[in-house]
Order: sequence, then C-alpha cells, then structure tokens
Amino acid sequence: MVAATAQERTPPEMEETSSGLQGGQCLSCRAFSFPCALICSECLSEDIVSAELSSDGVLYAYSVVHQAPAGWPVPYALGYVDLREGVRVLAHLEGPAGELRSGASVRFVSGHGRTAPDGAPLVTFAISQEEQL
Ligand SMILES: [Zn+2]
Repeated sequence: MVAATAQERTPPEMEETSSGLQGGQCLSCRAFSFPCALICSECLSEDIVSAELSSDGVLYAYSVVHQAPAGWPVPYALGYVDLREGVRVLAHLEGPAGELRSGASVRFVSGHGRTAPDGAPLVTFAISQEEQL
C-alpha cells in the first residue's frame, strides 16, 4: 500500500458532530488540530486522522463587529475558544455582546445560520456562553 502525500489528501469538512467538532489528531505526537491539518504543526508528521473534539471550552478573547455583509445582523461577536485538546478555534458568538467575558465557559451550538446576500442559507458553527451558576 502506498501512503498518500499531503497534496493527495483532503481534510475532512468542518462538520459538527453529536458532541463536538470534527478535527484531526497526529498519530506521531497526539497533537490535535482544527480544522484537520494535513501536516502536524508540532512534529511535521503527515500521519493525521480525523478526531472528534470537545464541545465546550473557555473563551480566550472576543471582538464585537459592527460592519457586516448584507443579510448579517450587527453587531455580532467573534471569539477564540480554547478547547481542552489544546486547540484554539475562531467562531461566531451567540447571545448579547455586552454579556461576553474572556475566561467564560462556552459551548458549541448547532444550526447557527445566516443568510448570504443572494438569500441562500449559510450554516456554520457558533459558540454560546454558558449560563452563570
Ligand atoms: Zn505531530
């Protein structure tokens, strides 16, 4: 069997799974990636398999955006979330921007949709800040 080169492989689509995001894991050093990397950023191995990532994490930082293409309500927030696998993911943030805070526990939510300028639905993933206890 001939191993595929990095150029021959296609990373899995960013898809939301039942409990988290679909990323990748290096079989040489066990490092995770999102989206699934073709080459490991830690050890440069090309031996990477699809791996399910956790659905919750900690909001590292965020920004509130006041300009958007047609069909996108403003303001909206973007944030970096640190997952327990050591991966930092950029995603849209759900909920009022004024209630966001760095260091908060967040969870990925499904069915986050927007509308393209031509009216076509856009589906992506988003994160929601968990309720304060
Ligand atoms: Zn590696």
